[in-house]
Amino acid sequence: MSKRPTLTTTAGAPVPDNQNALTSGARGPLLLQDYQLIEKLAHQNRERIPERPVHAKGWGAFGTLKITGDISKYTCAKVLQPGTETPVLARFSTVAGELGAADAERDVRGFALKFYTEEGNWDLVGNNTPVFFVRDPYKFPDFIHTQKRHPRTNLRSNTAMWDFWSLSPESVHQVTILMSDRGLPISPMHMNGYGSHTYSLWNEAGERYWVKFHFKTQQGHKFHTNAEAREVIGRSRESYQEALFGAIERGEFPKWTFQVQIMPEKDAEKTPYNPFDLTKVWPHGDYPCIDVGVLELNRNPDNYFAEIENAAFAPSNIVPGISWSPDKMLQARIFSYADAHRYRLGTHYESLAVNRPRCPVHHYHKDGQMNIYGGLATGNPDAFYEPNSFGGPVEDPRAKEPPLRISGDADRYNHREGNDDFSQAGALFRLMSAEEQNRLMDNIAEAMEGVPMEIVKRQAGLFYQCDPDYGIGVATRMGLSAADLPSARAAE
Ligand code: NDP
Repeated sequence: MSKRPTLTTTAGAPVPDNQNALTSGARGPLLLQDYQLIEKLAHQNRERIPERPVHAKGWGAFGTLKITGDISKYTCAKVLQPGTETPVLARFSTVAGELGAADAERDVRGFALKFYTEEGNWDLVGNNTPVFFVRDPYKFPDFIHTQKRHPRTNLRSNTAMWDFWSLSPESVHQVTILMSDRGLPISPMHMNGYGSHTYSLWNEAGERYWVKFHFKTQQGHKFHTNAEAREVIGRSRESYQEALFGAIERGEFPKWTFQVQIMPEKDAEKTPYNPFDLTKVWPHGDYPCIDVGVLELNRNPDNYFAEIENAAFAPSNIVPGISWSPDKMLQARIFSYADAHRYRLGTHYESLAVNRPRCPVHHYHKDGQMNIYGGLATGNPDAFYEPNSFGGPVEDPRAKEPPLRISGDADRYNHREGNDDFSQAGALFRLMSAEEQNRLMDNIAEAMEGVPMEIVKRQAGLFYQCDPDYGIGVATRMGLSAADLPSARAAE
């Protein structure tokens, strides 16, 4: 057997005894000078960092994005040029459950990707659904409160969820996806990923195109019914971790087809729906999906905490050739994700190994806790401000994106006025088979257990506006009839 390394203190000195505490006599009390015992206990007390308020429970792996298509006329981003291969980290997650929650729970799944490109990290922090529950970030903290525990009972509250949803008609599209088969995939490998927001691409000629990013599972969509999920959770709370980790260990590397939908900049003024509204999709008939490449996951992390828990994804991370859009939810996330990581991991979270760009990094941020740059990230102790005469880093105007040609009067526009919240959810309901529709409505009825009838009626009324069969199907499962639904009475 090869010689084993000597156990040391964190300061590097050899540890003489890691079995027996220092006591005054064999039966006596501990001595305060047993510094190694105290350090061991103190480290244990600090092993946990704050869990994410949302997307706490996650599973992740490394892989590659290969570009096989050609969208170079839309973007100069090097990561998207034909033939490019870029290392990637993926982290999947549930939204509501805490770190110890069971994996096979009905919930939206996070689908976060970090591309380590030669022009900096590009993070696409999406979900397994193309839309979201709210379109105005003012409502995001309220929505998340309804998904978390009730302050008094410390239990999840069906009433809070359906109360909020029934008072927020823009949520009905996402609620329909959540309660459908796609709301409970059997593993992260059996679901699509969507950038969800509208982003933009820009090319060297300074032309901007709006874009939606899609990752379509090559493993096929597979889902659990609620009853199957209960049985899975009874056996294992870690079914996703087992499935993803196990597949990659066995060399069965999951893949997704990477696609984009492209909208010319001017089209945004004439689509009947707001293309920057996160509760809407762009119909494939209007903006077809274009194949761009393949995402493959092929390496498990060596250390879950260091590489998956410490991973910090933020939509603020873009690279030249890719940018944002006027989507209000995206703009709020540009602030709030990086801010969440500053709180959770510390100011210098991007210098942790898993978050560190693979290209050179030069900036003037200074000092602070856990600054592990070993000094300044300018590479020069005299260049600690800018402009300077000491060869410090300078801006590169080639990275400047074209102007965002959107303007209007600053005001608080009522986002619920004049919006069609029902057509797309209705289209989704109608593309489901009768069996899928029945499972959807059964799942809704199950999730409405214990909810006051006034809220049930209001919500079934929203489903009715998507499609009368949808509203009546939910109403009858709840012991109501069409006559009980306000929207059905109004339609008579
Ligand atoms: P299409 O018929 O062209 O597209 C329908 C899309 O719906 C499919 O391509 C598939 O998207 C997705 N889909 C199919 N079956 C299901 C299901 N059982 N549950 C959830 N999604 C399913 O029509 P449109 O583009 O006009 O979309 C119609 C409706 O489909 C939309 O209102 C929306 O609710 C839903 N949808 C649309 C997407 C889009 O980007 N246009 C994406 C996902 C859903 P995929 O290929 O992404 O799996």
